[in-house]
Amino acid sequence: MSDEVDQAQEMSQDFCDRAIEANRRPIRKLQPRQKCYNCDTAVEGNRLFCDDECREDWEFRMTRVRGKYEVFSGAS
Ligand SMILES: [Zn+2]
Repeated sequence: MSDEVDQAQEMSQDFCDRAIEANRRPIRKLQPRQKCYNCDTAVEGNRLFCDDECREDWEFRMTRVRGKYEVFSGAS
């Protein structure tokens, strides 16, 4: 019986680790896709955004999403 409990704890620990890892995934790790991540304008080479304004706009929105998520998880 104690084996079963240990197993269950291990599983939930593993689940938590993965959830934490997914949550920590760096926001900036974007792959260039020949398009601006903010407005879908075509961009050259390995640029992620068409200009600084788009990058700032996108970062601002990402920050807000993260902020919301952190408030939500903190309340539970
Ligand atoms: Zn753009």
